[in-house]
Amino acid sequence: MNPVALSLYLHFPFCLSKCSYCNFNSYAGMERLIPDYLGAMEKEILLWKMFAREYSSQSSFHEEFQVETVYFGGGTPSLLQPEQIAYVIERCRAFPFAVAPEITLEANPGTVQEKFFARIRRAGVNRLSLGAQSFNDGCLKLLGRIHSANEAREAFLCARKAGFDNINMDLIYALPGQTMPCWQNTLEEALRLHPEHLSLYSLTLEEGTPLAGWVKAGLLPLPDGDLAADMYLLAEEILDREGYSHYEISNWAVPGKECRHNLAYWKNTSYLGVGAGAHSFLFGHRFAGVSSPQEYVEKLSALERLPPSFLEVGGEKSHLDFVEGADVEREMSDTVIMGLRLQEGIDLASFAGRFQRELLPAYRQEIEELVELGLLDADEKGIRLSGRGKLLGNEVFMRFLPPNSTGSALS
Ligand code: SF4
Repeated sequence: MNPVALSLYLHFPFCLSKCSYCNFNSYAGMERLIPDYLGAMEKEILLWKMFAREYSSQSSFHEEFQVETVYFGGGTPSLLQPEQIAYVIERCRAFPFAVAPEITLEANPGTVQEKFFARIRRAGVNRLSLGAQSFNDGCLKLLGRIHSANEAREAFLCARKAGFDNINMDLIYALPGQTMPCWQNTLEEALRLHPEHLSLYSLTLEEGTPLAGWVKAGLLPLPDGDLAADMYLLAEEILDREGYSHYEISNWAVPGKECRHNLAYWKNTSYLGVGAGAHSFLFGHRFAGVSSPQEYVEKLSALERLPPSFLEVGGEKSHLDFVEGADVEREMSDTVIMGLRLQEGIDLASFAGRFQRELLPAYRQEIEELVELGLLDADEKGIRLSGRGKLLGNEVFMRFLPPNSTGSALS
């Protein structure tokens, strides 16, 4: 039996302070909980390992897993000590690792030094995702980031010096008041550093965040949708010229340096999320842990075992917040929606092999209408977003939602 590739996501919900735009599951001022939280994560990994063994022997899921990718996300995982990171990686080895796993850590430029990078590299981290966000100090201040543009630059150079040869940089555009020259300058500053990967996100004003409140109160101008689209097109043009491949709606990479971990999400394959609020897609179920770090620690300390039937009964008395069983319509829909985010789109033969159903008859009307509207390209091999479709992704994805869906895949 060939092992099934598994991606492990490890969530660290601790930050030094909360950024003005952020509605992620992250908390400032809770660092005292980190040791207990790491203990809870260690226990969760072992419980899942035991569960996988029992579940495979008692259900139709006869699966052996092999970890292809590990992703330390947050929050701010770079607040951890290198020894703690090494310890967590070792605990993950409860599941066998592939020969060359990708191990990514998200780093906040305001929390790191050269020594840190050298030590986490020795611990096995081989990819960094640096939350630079902007190279304009005014924008960084507006976003409530704890670092300056220069500190982001320094952090990148330190990581390089420590030997990292696979670095992503996150940047945000369409900020209130941001001009096109300001965005272009941020892009050019980033490119001067030659990152292997760039993730570019248009700012979303999230209800309840200070930034959304300032815009609502009229203190800041609402970002203009047309300008945001132009900023995206400018990035496409510049990054294309620089040789980056635009392999996903918001992601560009030097060919061969695409993020293997995120590709698992976009291809809708197995992943296990460990930690408060972390999401998983495994054993034919989708599930997520409780989002409060304190509650997560308490629930884990009271857990001794995950009985083989507990996913079927909705994760009762466990650390999970929700569990959803498999549903082929939902899986097909998620596979199309996530797969269309990729430049390569959906391959007809792979889809048919996975679901024993042909894509075109299953979604004929939706596909024909979207092709007609110029949002989708279709040929004998598959379907993919057109240039215009990339700008209007959610309009395309909505058409593939199953009836009565909440639209949770559209994020
Ligand atoms: S560092 Fe990241 S997770 Fe933490 S508050 Fe800022 S945006 Fe949110």
